[in-house]
Amino acid sequence: MCEELIQVAVRLRPFNQRENDRHAKSIVDVDGKTIFIMDPLSSQERKQFSFDYTYWSHDDFIQAPSAIFQADDISSSYNSQRKLFDDFGRDLLKSAFSGFNCSVFAYGQTGSGKSYSMIGYGVNRGLIPITCNELFEEIENKKDSHTHFQVTLSMMEVYNEQVRDLLSRKMPKACLTVRQHPTSGYFYPQDLCTMPVDNYKDVERLLSEGIQNRTIASTNMNRTSSRAHTIVTIHLDQIIQTNYDEIKRMSTMNFIDLAGSETLTNPGISGDRLNERTNINRSLSTFENVVSALVDRSSGVKQKCFVPYRESTLTKLIQNSLGGNSKTIMLATLSPADVNYHETLNTLSFADRVKRIKNFISINEIAFD
Ligand code: ADP
Ligand code: MG
Repeated sequence: MCEELIQVAVRLRPFNQRENDRHAKSIVDVDGKTIFIMDPLSSQERKQFSFDYTYWSHDDFIQAPSAIFQADDISSSYNSQRKLFDDFGRDLLKSAFSGFNCSVFAYGQTGSGKSYSMIGYGVNRGLIPITCNELFEEIENKKDSHTHFQVTLSMMEVYNEQVRDLLSRKMPKACLTVRQHPTSGYFYPQDLCTMPVDNYKDVERLLSEGIQNRTIASTNMNRTSSRAHTIVTIHLDQIIQTNYDEIKRMSTMNFIDLAGSETLTNPGISGDRLNERTNINRSLSTFENVVSALVDRSSGVKQKCFVPYRESTLTKLIQNSLGGNSKTIMLATLSPADVNYHETLNTLSFADRVKRIKNFISINEIAFD
């Protein structure tokens, strides 16, 4: 087992229509691994943060033509979806083939580019499809009579502290019970569909099915998409025959598109809306409390500290990804606009804490004689 820090990447999206219409000003700048943010009310007030990766995707955005993935040979300062995969996605995939668990979180306010970066829209496919496509290319390259590969995909949504299976064909869709595994101690959603996938086309079909189920499940797409956490899990099992024994190497890749991190302050709400807000705050505030406890543990401030994973559904399900046995990257997505200064600063401060968390990683392998 070895310790490894969670890596943090930040990405700046282009202005949206509303920001363009209002002639919004950009208050964020990137120089190498450093990102600067200016207080729009006081130009002297400039803060800086450093991360493992920074992505300038603010301007020069060119809609991909009909290419399968967004073209990268277009000369531009815009950091494409492909660039994220090349920088850290490829390494994660390599680690998965070595038997490590891997996770990617997207964190940021609603509309900052979490789903764009993770799943993507139209031809601008995100990290999950690109990684899955490369996963099957790699399997093709590695295929020989000694190694057998098994890949499954599952997709769920945590909304109002309840888990919904996005790939279940049962109607109406029941909420899944979260159980604790008697030996490993980890939490899992009971009866979650884990679909075998044999090629990239299978993945593509299931992802679009899951995305659609997510949309149908809501009466107000915008509201749900900004308030639900989506988790896509890929299990990669490899059975390798050697001259002496058979080795089973297992890896879980978790991709987590979190609910919008903005502070939900609207004193006039009641009933369902209030319940929803409390629950969302519970998942997000527990997530933040888990991060704080882990920062203390990792920095040695407290050797033994209580990490409140059990206090929300989301943190139960992602325990391994955060402070556990997983190579983890957090992608913090940012709006460049002056109007979003406070949320952007919050995201950067949060990302700055996450980069101090150490995970404990080991290869998941069993040998049979
Ligand atoms: P979130 O999931 O964080 O709520 P989205 O990913 O849905 O936000 O992004 C909001 C909008 O901004 C979408 O229309 C998306 O296409 C656009 N967008 C976000 N990030 C980028 C990016 N890096 N490049 C181009 N467009 C982006
Ligand atoms: Mg989204």
